[in-house]
Amino acid sequence: MAGYHYSFNPLRSLLASQKVTSMEVIKQLLQHIKEQQDLNAFVNVYDQEIVENAAVVNQKIKEGMGGPLAGMVIGLKDMVAYKDHPLQAGSKILTNYISPFHATVTERLLAADALIIGHQNCDEFGMGSSSENAYFGTVLNPIDKTRVAGGSSGGSAAAVKAKMCHVSIGTDTGGSVRQPAAFCGLVGLKPSYGRISRHGIVAYASSFDTAGIFAHTVEDCASVLEVIAGPDAFDDTAVCREVPHYTSGLYHPERYKVACLAGTLSNGGLQPEIKERTLGGLELLKQAGHQVDHVHFELLKYALPTYYILVNAEASTNLSRFDGIRYGYRSSHATTLEEVYIKTRTEGFAKEVKKRIMLGSFVLSASQCETHYIKALKVRNLIKKAMQDILKDYDFIILPTTTTTAFKVNSFANNPLSMYWSDLYTVLASVAGLPAISLPNGVDQKNLPIGIQIIGNYFEEAKLLTFAKHFESIVQ
Ligand code: GLN
Repeated sequence: MAGYHYSFNPLRSLLASQKVTSMEVIKQLLQHIKEQQDLNAFVNVYDQEIVENAAVVNQKIKEGMGGPLAGMVIGLKDMVAYKDHPLQAGSKILTNYISPFHATVTERLLAADALIIGHQNCDEFGMGSSSENAYFGTVLNPIDKTRVAGGSSGGSAAAVKAKMCHVSIGTDTGGSVRQPAAFCGLVGLKPSYGRISRHGIVAYASSFDTAGIFAHTVEDCASVLEVIAGPDAFDDTAVCREVPHYTSGLYHPERYKVACLAGTLSNGGLQPEIKERTLGGLELLKQAGHQVDHVHFELLKYALPTYYILVNAEASTNLSRFDGIRYGYRSSHATTLEEVYIKTRTEGFAKEVKKRIMLGSFVLSASQCETHYIKALKVRNLIKKAMQDILKDYDFIILPTTTTTAFKVNSFANNPLSMYWSDLYTVLASVAGLPAISLPNGVDQKNLPIGIQIIGNYFEEAKLLTFAKHFESIVQ
């Protein structure tokens, strides 16, 4: 099939002119899924169904009636509800659970004539940075199968990279879209908190959770965001703001003022090639006429502890609903109601999730709440304010996405806590609720992708995407 593209926008005109049919596209993507099952990217592939749906969409395209995403093939992280399909959030505790409704994101994608190909593997309830805490097994990185694809949305990143779908919808609570995007050499967007409805997305930490987008290009990200963003009667935290037409503004960058967080580059744990490539990226921006300043950000060291105190607290309450009565798995060894709760949760959750529920319950307990949870809330406000202060003077904040490139599978088996360090640079935007994007920024000596992260101001995704598109063009 000549002229086939794995990013969607170039394919759109081929589909419109019927040079390529949706069926041919699907066939090839399904073939890639079949050939690369060892990556463990999907937990469920809806192969028959997508072929049927593609026939309908193809007819619509033929008649010139196709929606804005007609023929785009999308994978959903196993945290995003798709009506009448399984939803397990990478956990044993949701075994046999079938979602009775669509997430708002899913509904909007389908209304735009996107085609959903399957659900993708992830860390249990989004808790992890390597997709190794996954009930369905570790996701491997398509670039080097001895390494992880990142997490928690590892399957979603691996699937786009391995050309199994054009775009994936992941979730990002503290970096779960941006970090795997960086590890797999993709664009990964986490919009502002409240930009996309969370209705139908399995909750991890409700005041941090956002849906996010994986794609090969910024343009594909923009095309999807303009379809799925916006207010929603089912989620009051989805902000009532107009959704700009992101794709139309992409090609008109201005001269911007950019702040690089100096402390992120002087950190001893930063892989030297990432530092070099970040500085190289900043140099390219200077040459393109933008102002780049190195800015000191004193609160950087508090971001990670603040994040982990608050998300665990929120997770411990969110996950209390999984009691063996309402959803999915129920222990068969229980004889009393109390045993149903205890045994179901003991058997249904794996180690990392249990650890976090315990930590979260601890920081919320009467004796600890003031010193941990309340204090972390206060620090969160300080971080938000300090970030906002920088964004009063600058259009964007730039920093690396990760401290290292994709690490080997099992690297943190003996010290899982130290994996939390790998979230050091992504949690900042999450704590503040700001929009952030990770873009490919070259490779290290082992040919592993490096990501650069751009953080924008609240609800300024249009400007962020325009700048990201500009960066994408100058870095190549
Ligand atoms: N690695 C982070 C955590 O485990 C981020 C996860 C996410 O964004 N879902 O909390």
